[in-house]
Amino acid sequence: MSTSVLVINCGSSSIKYALVSERREDRIFGLAENLGSPEARIKGITTGGEALELSIPNADHEKALETILERLAHHNPQAIGHRVVHGGTLTKAELLTPEIIERIREATPLAPLHNPAHLVGIDATMRLFPHLPQIAVFDTAFHQTMPSHAYRYALPKFLYTMHNVRRYGFHGTSHAYVSERGSQLAGSFKQGGWLTAHLGNGSSTCAIWNGQSVDTSMGLTPLEGVVMGTRSGDVDPSIHSFLASNLGWDIYKIDKMLNSQSGLLGLSDLSNDMRTLIEAADEGNEDAALAIEVFCYRLAKSLAALSCGLPRIDGLFFTGGIGENSALIREKTLAYLPHFGFNLSKENNNALKRGTEGRIDAGTGPQIWVVPTDEEGRIAKETEHVVAALEHPTTKKSEPETEVA
Ligand code: ADP
Repeated sequence: MSTSVLVINCGSSSIKYALVSERREDRIFGLAENLGSPEARIKGITTGGEALELSIPNADHEKALETILERLAHHNPQAIGHRVVHGGTLTKAELLTPEIIERIREATPLAPLHNPAHLVGIDATMRLFPHLPQIAVFDTAFHQTMPSHAYRYALPKFLYTMHNVRRYGFHGTSHAYVSERGSQLAGSFKQGGWLTAHLGNGSSTCAIWNGQSVDTSMGLTPLEGVVMGTRSGDVDPSIHSFLASNLGWDIYKIDKMLNSQSGLLGLSDLSNDMRTLIEAADEGNEDAALAIEVFCYRLAKSLAALSCGLPRIDGLFFTGGIGENSALIREKTLAYLPHFGFNLSKENNNALKRGTEGRIDAGTGPQIWVVPTDEEGRIAKETEHVVAALEHPTTKKSEPETEVA
């Protein structure tokens, strides 16, 4: 019988889930949202590919997970893979033991919005399914190969040694999947130097050498780096004292502004959604046009900076909602990088259909590819890998690899 892994991503009032079978294209997936409120509901796709909408008034995480599993029980999931944003210095996916759960708890000050929600989900699934192996897959783990000159801040040493203040990086599951899949498509599986641009509501870049992350744009938190939907990305850190001294803002107000009111939304004063901004710019909205330009320029700057981590650049992979779907953003970004020899084929770039992978350079210079991300598939694969190692502890298995299409 085909085995499957249930992938769970718990937020504070939502749970995204996907049942990933060995034949990875067969997915059952959905979202439980508004948990803890009368509007709590599950929306998703059933086994038959039909839309599902189920009201579960006032359900909490545990009740929602119970309902999800009841519906999926006949698929006999072999294990549960939990997406966990911050794993501190953990370097790989881990079986959830009391010690690993404690490590996730210890990393909470570094991901105060995410890790507590993951812990609620972990707690519920451990109670509901004590017989199933449960694995945590960390967004930070892929970046634990960064050298110290990439992950240390130029701050007093004790902040690192005593308080773990350093760069961690996020979106690791996506950068890992996309760089493996992309390098495989390019015919040099996990070899050479590649840049990835994961562009969604949250965005980040990564430099990968021979399959390992050597630098990334996000840092201690997911606020550092490129312009995002509502996050500022890099700003002068003195903005805190400037706003406190001149506007009397406290640290919470500044933090909220940088995380929720900045980025594309702040610049355009219109929307955090790239599609909306492209349409508005087409209709002559100058703020929307500027937001797009700043996004692309800062993104190009980030890719150029990260290239310092690579002995050579074999190519660039675009992914995420914007990276996969917007030929305009890809073209504008690459227009700021002519000195790297990137040579975009406008025809191939414009012809690429939604959700498809494909090469979009003109055949000279570093390769340029669009590679749709598959975070759930990668989490399922890492989960299977940990489970296999538990079942056959003496067999040394290699790292999970992207499947040949
Ligand atoms: P998340 O980070 O929440 O997973 P996604 O990866 O789905 O987000 O990306 C969402 C972003 O992708 C939004 O800004 C959305 O406007 C953008 N996007 C989706 N399709 C297009 C498109 N065809 N053109 C431009 N932007 C797009």
